[in-house]
Amino acid sequence: MISVEEAIQRIERTFTPLGAEMVALDQGLGRVLAEALEARLTQPPADVSAMDGYAVRAADVETLPATLKIVQRIAAGQPPSGAIGAGEAARIFTGAQVPPGADTVVIQENCDEADEHVTVREGNRKLGQHIRKGGLDFRAGDIAIHSGRRLTARDISLAAAMNRPWLKVTRRPRIALLSTGDELVNPGDPVGPAQIIGSNGIGLAALVRTFGGEPVNLGIARDTLEDLDRAIEAALGFDMLVTSGGASVGEHDLVQTALTQRGMHLDFWKIAMRPGKPLMFGSLDTLKVLGLPGNPVSTIVTALLFLKPAIERMLGLSGVEAAREVALLGKDMSANDTRQDYVRARLVTNADGQRVATPFAPQDSSMLSLIARADCLIVRKPHAPEAKAGDTVDIVPLSGGCWSI
Ligand code: AMP
Ligand code: MG
Repeated sequence: MISVEEAIQRIERTFTPLGAEMVALDQGLGRVLAEALEARLTQPPADVSAMDGYAVRAADVETLPATLKIVQRIAAGQPPSGAIGAGEAARIFTGAQVPPGADTVVIQENCDEADEHVTVREGNRKLGQHIRKGGLDFRAGDIAIHSGRRLTARDISLAAAMNRPWLKVTRRPRIALLSTGDELVNPGDPVGPAQIIGSNGIGLAALVRTFGGEPVNLGIARDTLEDLDRAIEAALGFDMLVTSGGASVGEHDLVQTALTQRGMHLDFWKIAMRPGKPLMFGSLDTLKVLGLPGNPVSTIVTALLFLKPAIERMLGLSGVEAAREVALLGKDMSANDTRQDYVRARLVTNADGQRVATPFAPQDSSMLSLIARADCLIVRKPHAPEAKAGDTVDIVPLSGGCWSI
């Protein structure tokens, strides 16, 4: 058995970034940029007004009231028709370019307009006020988004403003998913008396999507070497095969045997953790294989710990090491044994603004109802001593943190 940390390191060492492809900007959300994105233009292109009002010379409005002649009207999208001189003003609207000669904008609320003249009654008249300088946001050639960043909705807006309608992004890893077990049927299919619904395939597909990969569900293989071999054959050519179930030591656990018969090189098998001990990692030529345990909670927790970094490495994500997150413990916990524990828990913020993590009472690794409701996993190191309510504990946040982009 190896430690969780070593398993993650070995997985991270194995994967390298995939090649790049071009996508239209509106398909860029959540993709990982594979180029340094330079602005194609300067924004704003010239000095523009930040308010509706009048473009003036600060010197002309030093003493108030001051009446100035309106010599032009400039709306957003129209270039100024000329400069303004002493004693003159331009009616101007938000986003419109400030005419040469003007150095200040006064807001319309402080002005009265009549007979092509404006009287500035009151208000601040600092030089440069309400003017956004050309290039305030970015200049042509600036690198505004760096390679290796997973694009947020905000980045998409920025790329659009930079006039970048196409993006070079890393290819999404194609992940084949295989469920195994004679007892499993697909959701929606008739369920015999000794059968259960196979939830891991569809759940893993959702996780792969969340992590940024492209899942292909190969369905359910029966617990026979022939059926498993057929499914493994179907996975050749993918970036990765992720199996669930059949990875333990029971006589129906044939996943490893089937893969070994095909020539898989086993990197490691079994991790000192709970849930999720019987985890297998290896490679079959270019196909990487991650064999996850079948219990649904174990599948989800191990996918989060091991599949997520594998996908992130393939995506070329930089700087993904999660910051250490902590919370106060909501109730006493007993001393831990030799395995690292990932304890399903509720996370609430108390009256003092501190986060408190309270473990659920049952922790059975088959209970999807609890992992679905959990807000975090409390991490208990191997041999961790007894912990008291109020102690600080490490957590892996679930809602919001890991699952959202
Ligand atoms: P195994 O590792 O194949 O012995 O599976 C461990 C437990 O997980 C068994 O109780 C299986 O019935 C259950 N299990 C395996 N695969 C799935 C699945 N896809 N969906 C739900 N439960 C599963
Ligand atoms: Mg099984």
